[in-house]
Amino acid sequence: MSRHFDIVVIGSGPGGYVGALKAAQLGASVAVIERGCLGGTCLNVGCIPSKALLASAHLLHQIRHASELGVTVGGDVSFDWAKIQSRKDRVIRMLQNGVKSLFAGRKIELIAGDAKLAGVGRVVVEGKAGAEEITCNNVILAVGSRPARIPGWPEDSSIVCTSDEALHWKTLPGKLLIVGGGIIGCEFACMMQTLGVEVTVVELMPRILPELDCHLAEAMQKILAKRGVKLLTGVKVQEMKLADAGAQAVLSDGQGVSVDRVLVAVGRRPATEGIGLESVGLTVDRGFIRVDDHMQTPVKGVSCIGDANGRCLLAHAASEQGVVAAMNITGKPTVYHAAIPSCVYTFPEISSVGMTQEQAQAKKIPVSIGSFPIGYLGKAMAVGETEGFVKVIRHRESGELLGIHMLGHNVTELIAAAGAMLHHKLSVREVADVVYAHPTISESLKEAAEDSLGEALHLPPRKVIRIGAQ
Ligand code: NAD
Repeated sequence: MSRHFDIVVIGSGPGGYVGALKAAQLGASVAVIERGCLGGTCLNVGCIPSKALLASAHLLHQIRHASELGVTVGGDVSFDWAKIQSRKDRVIRMLQNGVKSLFAGRKIELIAGDAKLAGVGRVVVEGKAGAEEITCNNVILAVGSRPARIPGWPEDSSIVCTSDEALHWKTLPGKLLIVGGGIIGCEFACMMQTLGVEVTVVELMPRILPELDCHLAEAMQKILAKRGVKLLTGVKVQEMKLADAGAQAVLSDGQGVSVDRVLVAVGRRPATEGIGLESVGLTVDRGFIRVDDHMQTPVKGVSCIGDANGRCLLAHAASEQGVVAAMNITGKPTVYHAAIPSCVYTFPEISSVGMTQEQAQAKKIPVSIGSFPIGYLGKAMAVGETEGFVKVIRHRESGELLGIHMLGHNVTELIAAAGAMLHHKLSVREVADVVYAHPTISESLKEAAEDSLGEALHLPPRKVIRIGAQ
């Protein structure tokens, strides 16, 4: 007799494990099948290890600037990479144990093995003890993604790496080439440069962080360049080969770059191959399993959440989709409509939610832009964190808040307020009407909202920046 569950979740990343918890909370019997490490990309080779390593680098950065706040740090300020790595590993283990105990508390069965669909309602798990067929009423595919690799480049992953390897490096390179100036590229560039690595970033597009609001990207580009990161934009790596215990790259502008290691950070690809999609008649679109707003695939009884469906490759989006899938499967119709914030954990940080200036322009939406430099704030000056700004995008006719984009100290925490404002469809007037505590960095939200209305009190009188149709 094969084991039977109401729901089988394939993958235990932030999509799968949260979806499983929600389904179990709603009364379903649930099994989660995981072939790798519990917690998926986010916990093992993504958000958590990168933030743990960045925390050490940030502390080092702050200590090096301690004298600006009148604090004398005696002796050599240095770091122990092995200790930084083992602390990061401890953080991962603690969080994995947390997920295990949450599963135990909700009687979720965690099955180790490689899962493959074998027809609707049937999943075969290849585990250490052999193969087992499990039956279920519904499957949630939460199989995630893998870092993209560039075809034809050397396959020696000790030299030409992706974030999967780089987050667990036993040693630091002397010289590092980062291919791709997106989120991973920038977080690594910031971290590695602080740790004394000579960093070159090659980005195909005319600027780094091309998906983000142009002013955020321009500001981060200046900050990284000032710290000594070599940023080459609008160029491509033409050729990559192993040389002298490292790698040698030739760029499209003819330049040669010799480094010890290369980090390829050019996006991620869905991990949807080899999971038996054909057995249920599911096809993929550029590798992604397309779903509707209920996370439902065209095949009844099969949902797909997280990176594998291509809607948004972020952990918290996957978790939200997991909840939506679990609610729909258990008879509580819900649609996925959340305003998904995006954060970059460089120091200073970047956070963003809603429409960017470029997206508004492309859609010909008439907007007015408000912005406020964080450095003008009392709190920013007091704590010595004056870099950055907050930018508000306002629909000029309806007054609707369309987007908020920030660069500065702790803005990845501040984005929660901005996300709530967008989620609840506040007007920019309502954002401006909120009372913000003084002194806080959040005061910049009020000032930027007021600036988009031409009413900021802590800026000299100026014309509202208007973009789009008159
Ligand atoms: P990304 O899509 O953010 O950036 C990839 C960059 O590489 C882009 O700027 C692109 O123009 C560039 N690029 C592509 N091909 C290139 C080439 N051949 N040469 C030079 N540049 C090239 O992808 P990523 O940084 O690899 O991150 C992967 C995913 O993980 C993203 O979806 C990202 O959102 C997610 N992620 C999120 C966080 C976070 O939320 N803090 C952190 C890391 C990663």
